[in-house]
Amino acid sequence: MPTTFERIRQRYESTDKRCPDCGYVDEEGNWESRTDGQQIIYRHVCPSCDASREHTFTLK
Ligand SMILES: [Zn+2]
Repeated sequence: MPTTFERIRQRYESTDKRCPDCGYVDEEGNWESRTDGQQIIYRHVCPSCDASREHTFTLK
């Protein structure tokens, strides 16, 4: 049974690879994750145009 953390990570690594700014598809899915115990922050920097995206989840 995957944890919430793992489910979210897998979701982004497998589905959200396309940069909304330039359309570049990052096949590596290089999402960085960090957590402070209450939130998980996922960050992706486009290797093509350097646009960064962040998703924040609050853990319950
Ligand atoms: Zn881009």
